[in-house]
Amino acid sequence: MIKENLIKIKQSLPKNVTLVAVSKTKPLVDLQEAYAAGQRVFGENKIQEMVDKYDALPKDIQWHMIGHLQRNKVKYMAHFVDLIHGVDSLKTLKEINKQAKKHDRSINCLLQAKIAKEETKFGLSFQEIEAIFCSEEFLELKNIKVVGFMGMATFTDNQQQLQEEFLALKDFFNKLKTQDSKLNILSMGMSGDYPLAISKGSNMIRVGSAIFGHRNYN
Ligand SMILES: *Cc1c(COP(=O)(O)O)cnc(C)c1O
Repeated sequence: MIKENLIKIKQSLPKNVTLVAVSKTKPLVDLQEAYAAGQRVFGENKIQEMVDKYDALPKDIQWHMIGHLQRNKVKYMAHFVDLIHGVDSLKTLKEINKQAKKHDRSINCLLQAKIAKEETKFGLSFQEIEAIFCSEEFLELKNIKVVGFMGMATFTDNQQQLQEEFLALKDFFNKLKTQDSKLNILSMGMSGDYPLAISKGSNMIRVGSAIFGHRNYN
């Protein structure tokens, strides 16, 4: 079913939208099936699990870290991670920069914006993001590149609310884009809400259960 799910989703996507196949908790065989169907971008939310999968699978896969980051584990993925979605502090950006430097590379990052009304979600306010962009310390980080923003909407069926949350981030993204040409990725939308997120400006979606099926945990 994985192959069929992937084909169906991909056919429905506008060309400018990147599909991140969220494979957290899923066994290698599932990732191999997606790979055989042509999928090359995978998202994981635990660093150790991503490292294990990276070691076991073909090296042309692009690995995205989509979960909340534990700073002390950044070093384990610094040599291969393609994009880190969930960065929510300058402190974490500094650690990523430090580890990237050790491998003489630059790591692409997305700042996670807080768009959900729920208290439980991680992320930065728009004000905090602007403060980071303006800070001297940020400008000194040469081994990271902030290429956009990531947002998770409230867990709700209320389409009006979802729409408002996606649009708020889209507007903020467009505003900052005029000041920083490196910004080109807006990561919004999961299995339950990606069509709406795309219609509101997302160009990167993180889809797990709609490809790999229901997860028992995480
Ligand atoms: C698990 C996860 C997803 C995918 O969720 P689905 O509902 O299974 O598509 C997307 N983004 C983040 C940050 C996640 O942790």
